Amino acid sequence: MLFDASTIDRYRWLVRPSVFATPHVMGRTTGVLAIIASALGLVLALTMPLAPTTPYSYIAVVAAFAIGVFMLVWGDRLSRGHYEVMVWVAIVLVTFGDRAGSSPIGAIATACDYALVAALAGFFFEFFRAMLQIVVIAFCCVVVLAVRPELPWWIGLCGASVSVMTGVTVLVMGRLASAAEIDSLTGLFNRRGFDRKLEQALGAAVRHGGSPVLLLFDIDRFQAINEARGHAGGDDALRDIAKAARKLIARTDVFARYGGDEFAVLSTTMTEHDAIALSEQIREAIPTGCSAGVTSWQKGESASYLVSRADIALYQAKRAGRNRTKLESGKWPPLAQELRDAIEQDSLDVHYQPIVRTSDRSVVGVEALLRWQSVTRPDVKADEIIRIAEDNDLIAVLDNCVLSRACRDAKLLRGALGADMSLNVNVSGLELAACGYVDSVLDVLADTGWPAAQLILEVTETALEADTETAVANLRALRERGIRIAIDDFGTGFSSLGRLTELPTDMLKLDADFIAGVTATSAAPRLLSAVAAIGVALGLPVTAEGVEDEYQAAAVAALGFQYAQGFFYARPQPAAALIAIADELRVTERLDH
Ligand code: C2E
Ligand code: MG
Ligand code: MG
Repeated sequence: MLFDASTIDRYRWLVRPSVFATPHVMGRTTGVLAIIASALGLVLALTMPLAPTTPYSYIAVVAAFAIGVFMLVWGDRLSRGHYEVMVWVAIVLVTFGDRAGSSPIGAIATACDYALVAALAGFFFEFFRAMLQIVVIAFCCVVVLAVRPELPWWIGLCGASVSVMTGVTVLVMGRLASAAEIDSLTGLFNRRGFDRKLEQALGAAVRHGGSPVLLLFDIDRFQAINEARGHAGGDDALRDIAKAARKLIARTDVFARYGGDEFAVLSTTMTEHDAIALSEQIREAIPTGCSAGVTSWQKGESASYLVSRADIALYQAKRAGRNRTKLESGKWPPLAQELRDAIEQDSLDVHYQPIVRTSDRSVVGVEALLRWQSVTRPDVKADEIIRIAEDNDLIAVLDNCVLSRACRDAKLLRGALGADMSLNVNVSGLELAACGYVDSVLDVLADTGWPAAQLILEVTETALEADTETAVANLRALRERGIRIAIDDFGTGFSSLGRLTELPTDMLKLDADFIAGVTATSAAPRLLSAVAAIGVALGLPVTAEGVEDEYQAAAVAALGFQYAQGFFYARPQPAAALIAIADELRVTERLDH
């Protein structure tokens, strides 16, 4: 077979109308051309040298002008079908207009309008329709000019050639311009084309109302397909997926390959729930499964912000275990709005809790903990603030604020607690999996002058389970720069011991729940000594969190935990308060592992 199905798919854009021929552009183009035709007609009517001007000429001038104004105002509400009818009507009108005039020069001038109509046909319609109209225009042009005995026979051929050349040039140029916006592998819009369509849709939503819906979906474990089948196999898989999804997506919706294995659907007719249902159909139709994020445009929002919200939803779907869809409704909960304002106004607080060496209870470092006095929810706790920040795309900026504040405060604390103290800062899993995370941490260290060797980033086990590849790569990169990594809330996740040895880890922080079970009336759970032994076996120092009384402090020391943290030693407090009690908390030695 000369062309296989995938080749035809790939070059379908050649047959389709130019991607720039949207109702808006078609309305503007037709409007402007009709007004130009009306102006030309008026000049012709007023200056016609050989024959008296008929009332018909003025009627045509006024009609062309009225049509032009109508198209400028209402053109974007018409369908391509309406435009097709209009082009046929225009061919008939030019033909009759030409026949009705008595002057041969007038006939030539009127025939020039054929070129304008041919340009519209070449621009607006798919290849075969446009060519049919251009051929009919050429035929009419030859006939109306050839039947005039006053004119030489070749005038008609010249007129027809000009019309054909104009129509075909516009047709070819429109398609070449389209090609820059088409993905050559799948024949869908590429990111550039999609972004233009998105801007257009948002522009229309601003003018006429509505809330375009965006669906982003990403093929699950596409890397594995590439590795198993090679890049050509990966390309075939992408083509098949695009084809299967295309069948489910309405022609009026924009469907694009947004990048690598990520696809985007933009719809002005679907609701968010329709888009979720569509994503489920797509998931069933493609063998690999996919993760998807759905959101809808909110008034005043930019295109890039809308895409970033859909991206967050997509990321959350992956993080929740892939092969599912998450909705990012876009409506900011009041607490999230308040948090966003607090971040912008830099009104968040950071408190510091000492971490002590169990053998002599000397302070070896501090953990920075976020504090925020919300007006609407004064009792909101740090972990809830973090969840709100994660759900509303505020986590990166929030954690960055905490990190820079903590590095600055730590320089003051160092004077009071000892030059070698370490600074522990918590990291959200969402942030850890972001590409620019390593650079953002290094930038803060460079800005504040806090040494990398004295920074410990605390990452929870569950965060590492969610997006392993990027997160682990980022952790490795950070460690190469001298920053240490602690696994926080150890024992609450599902890491196997085998996995623990693979992770870039320097220390463990045992979750407070384990220590809560240690009381004077009940013996320390056996699990505790086992965890201490695991730490020793893996060469990872363990910090016991949540030590609240003397009994627990003695127990963790006896069980072999090197470090401890808890209300018993000191509560989290502002840097100034900690400096004030520094004498009681003097650092004796550096946290050195
Ligand atoms: P975490 O990192 O495990 O922090 C220790 C938590 O235990 C803190 O809660 C601390 O106040 C509390 N704590 C300390 N000693 C005791 C004790 O003796 N008994 C009891 N019952 N609790 C004690 P907090 O400050 O509410 O923070 C909760 C969690 O929120 C943190 O757990 C951490 O996962 C997260 N978090 C806090 N600040 C940040 C931050 O800036 N960024 C990120 N990403 N997460 C943060
Ligand atoms: Mg922590
Ligand atoms: Mg913890």
